[in-house]
Amino acid sequence: MDFDDAVRFHGHVCPGLAIGYRVAQIAEEEFKERAEDEELVAIVENKACGIDAIQVINGCTFGKGNLIFRDHGKHVYTFFKRGDDRAIRISSHPRGRSHESDDGTLSEEERRKARIQKVLKLPRDELFVVEHVQIEPPRKAMIYQSISCAECGEDVMETRARLKHGHIVCLPCFEGHDI
Ligand SMILES: [Zn+2]
Ligand SMILES: [Zn+2]
Repeated sequence: MDFDDAVRFHGHVCPGLAIGYRVAQIAEEEFKERAEDEELVAIVENKACGIDAIQVINGCTFGKGNLIFRDHGKHVYTFFKRGDDRAIRISSHPRGRSHESDDGTLSEEERRKARIQKVLKLPRDELFVVEHVQIEPPRKAMIYQSISCAECGEDVMETRARLKHGHIVCLPCFEGHDI
């Protein structure tokens, strides 16, 4: 799995994907394997382009439950390896922004390409702060029962169901919208 695989999955090349790819590489070097199951867990604090690289390179995906999203709007990525209970936390280097190209002669598209190339080539310590941290093991993906919604009749995972006028309903029916 390399940057081209990430680009194919994501659909386009962009600086965000390049950053996610570099993050994924650090985790790959640290833990030496791609998650077949859910032994490697990624906790990501944004849901931007870069997360797609982590799904492809590290095998941490929403579907397997080993990709945990915390809506903090931060470029912070924590990887936890089950079994040996090791974790690393990767965050943007405070000086990282000074690498933005500001050569006024470049077009916006050229500047974007230059930024992608820089992100792919810069030494990792100039892009990120990587720390070994101790965290609580993230909870494993659970399998819950499904129950039928009294309004739409569709199955809903029990933890997401709500009570409305004494009947069990799904969230869209509870809140009165379709999606
Ligand atoms: Zn993108
Ligand atoms: Zn419903």
